[in-house]
Amino acid sequence: MSLSDSKAKFSGLGETVKPALISCPWLLYSASMKVDIKLFTRGLFVLLGVFFIALWSLSLYFVFERVGANTDSGNGFWMFWWEQAMWVLPVLASLLVLAYISTFKSFVWPLLRLSRKMRHVVVARHSGKHENHDELGPGLSLLDRYFRRLTHLATHDPLTGLNTRVIFEERLKQAIVEGKRSGRKYALVFIDIDDFHKVNNEYGHYLADGLLKQMANRLSKGLRESDTVARLEKDDFALLLEFSDREQISNLLGKIYRYLTRRYDVYGRKVKISISVGVAVYPEHGQDIDELSVKADRAMMEAQKGDSPLVFARHNNGKSDYLGYSMVQSLRRALDNNEFRLVFQPVLEVKSNVTSYFEALLRWKNAEEHSFSIQQMIQMAENNQLIKPVTNWIVDNACKSLSLLKHPGVRIAVNLSMIDLHDQELPDRIKASLDRWQVRANELQVEITEGQIMQEPEQVIEILRRLTEMGISLAIDDFGTGQASLTYLRRLPVEKLKIDQSFVKDMVTNAEDRAIVEATIQLAHTLDIEVTAEGVESAAILEMLSSMSCDYVQGYYISRPIDQDQILIWCNDQTRRNAS
Ligand code: C2E
Ligand code: CA
Ligand code: CA
Repeated sequence: MSLSDSKAKFSGLGETVKPALISCPWLLYSASMKVDIKLFTRGLFVLLGVFFIALWSLSLYFVFERVGANTDSGNGFWMFWWEQAMWVLPVLASLLVLAYISTFKSFVWPLLRLSRKMRHVVVARHSGKHENHDELGPGLSLLDRYFRRLTHLATHDPLTGLNTRVIFEERLKQAIVEGKRSGRKYALVFIDIDDFHKVNNEYGHYLADGLLKQMANRLSKGLRESDTVARLEKDDFALLLEFSDREQISNLLGKIYRYLTRRYDVYGRKVKISISVGVAVYPEHGQDIDELSVKADRAMMEAQKGDSPLVFARHNNGKSDYLGYSMVQSLRRALDNNEFRLVFQPVLEVKSNVTSYFEALLRWKNAEEHSFSIQQMIQMAENNQLIKPVTNWIVDNACKSLSLLKHPGVRIAVNLSMIDLHDQELPDRIKASLDRWQVRANELQVEITEGQIMQEPEQVIEILRRLTEMGISLAIDDFGTGQASLTYLRRLPVEKLKIDQSFVKDMVTNAEDRAIVEATIQLAHTLDIEVTAEGVESAAILEMLSSMSCDYVQGYYISRPIDQDQILIWCNDQTRRNAS
């Protein structure tokens, strides 16, 4: 499946597009005449044949007639030919002139011009530019349309409408040139549907084709305009993504992975698939197409065999700077060996200056060793069906901390991942933890991000409703980043909104952020929802939030996340500070 494997089949733009261009004038002319090409060509040959046979028959007739009439004279034979030449040559000459005028001037020349122009158009399309075809003239618009069709067929997959391998390879070449010039990074991503033959066997080819079309649709929708997506073979897709840092590409690929593996509704049938993704990064994993495609291919094969469905290529020493296979194994080990811990960040009530609750945040020593962010780790767990045990661990340990603390008024908030919200058993599992540690449900709060609600909202709402019925309170995290519809927010029993720290951090200097924060607070209060501002890093921010009647604040200015054994010390210190 690697690009280099199929070199012979697809050696760049030329092999596929050139034959189309060479045969173009003829095809175009026949198309413009709206006749069948074979019929048209055959007809032309028949006409030419008839013309020549008629010409020669006429000549022979005259030869025999004159030769018969002049047998007595020795000069008669040559005289005859001279006389013939007197009229045959001018006729032939005029025919040639006519042929030149009609064929070259009105047919071949414009078609050659058109063909040259269109070659230019193809090259321009390859580099993503769009050309204006006005100068082709109205008379040639039909030919132009026909040519577009030919180009489209040569460059787009007929089933999915995605780019073909030819275009993909061309874009990859351009990306490498661009990367060398500007230092940009590109990820070459190969995606393969696991056991696609089973889909074919189980559902039939018609439905399998429908699935491929939907998958292509999701891929095109989920990407930016600058990214390239192609269908290489049957169920093999490829992406070319520009990115700036490790975190960005991991997050983007995680999103793509989740989007592609969500259930499909193909002609009324629900289809669930799993995919394997192999990624190679320019320049780290290779300097040319062959090297990159071999590495991405190898990574994809590793994904097919291994534990992780998303594998980054590795360096020659076997290590990868990106989230990958070995990390997934470590994550599994971490679960088994209890290598996780929770830290707790206090959230203060602005009016009373008292800690309202602590947000439990996950820490994993290996994540810090590999300098991966906790978000990346959570995402990796999500992508590898490990999030359920991780969330279980978080909830169970948060309940354990609550039961150990036994401090009146101390509540803990846990973060739920998107996958948790599609797990019908989640409420029961949380209930089991509450029971095990004899903790009341109202001591626990769950935080979900805005974006999570928007993915299959009906299902999410149902699970959240069950949680709130148990007495657990609900906060919407990172508010302002996920375009949650207010309609859904109103349907949810939301107690708190947490304004995303990206708006809070710069609100003192940035008037727009300030306006957003203020408007959000007002809107939430009208809906009877309390507001927490996260990312409070200075006294000035705290003061401004207080003047806007923000209910709660969280951030490094108040406290960084602390260990469990620090919670009581923090609470006691606070009581002392408030009393003095
Ligand atoms: P989040 O839920 O929005 O958590 C807040 C993050 O902001 C935490 O980072 C916290 O340490 C950080 N933070 C708090 N105050 C400040 C501040 O003043 N300035 C700055 N720059 N950062 C501040 P952390 O712990 O790295 O967590 C990052 C994200 O990882 C969390 O965002 C959450 O989405 C996810 N996460 C963390 N723990 C868990 C968990 O137990 N379960 C799940 N599902 N996700 C978690
Ligand atoms: Ca949170
Ligand atoms: Ca947040």
